[in-house]
Amino acid sequence: MTTADIEQFWAAARNRKFCLQQCLDCGWWNHPPMPRCRSCRSNQLAWQPVSGKGTVESFTETSVRLLGFGAQSLVFVRVHLREQFGLVHVGRFTHAEDIAPRRELAVVACFDESVDGTTLVNFRPVPVADS
Ligand SMILES: [Zn+2]
Repeated sequence: MTTADIEQFWAAARNRKFCLQQCLDCGWWNHPPMPRCRSCRSNQLAWQPVSGKGTVESFTETSVRLLGFGAQSLVFVRVHLREQFGLVHVGRFTHAEDIAPRRELAVVACFDESVDGTTLVNFRPVPVADS
């Protein structure tokens, strides 16, 4: 996997789309991306948009102290994505307001800008009616 290959993930994120590599021969979601499909070894792969919906499998919380900003809590979640059994993605848990992270919490991908201007794919909780 080259930098040019993974660039398609970041280009999609800049356009506020969550795209993953999918095998055009067998349909397997090949994530993290690889030059060949993990399921059938095909090299016929394409970047496809995914729902971004999933459930929290696990999470971790850490506190960092940034000069001039004081202590900040960062929560990262490992999310099972709906598209395929075993398909997971890790991102920050953001836009949660007063909802605490927990296992099995329904989340959806969201997009946040980092300090260097990179658009990150993160996750936010979704209301029960939307999950
Ligand atoms: Zn395949």
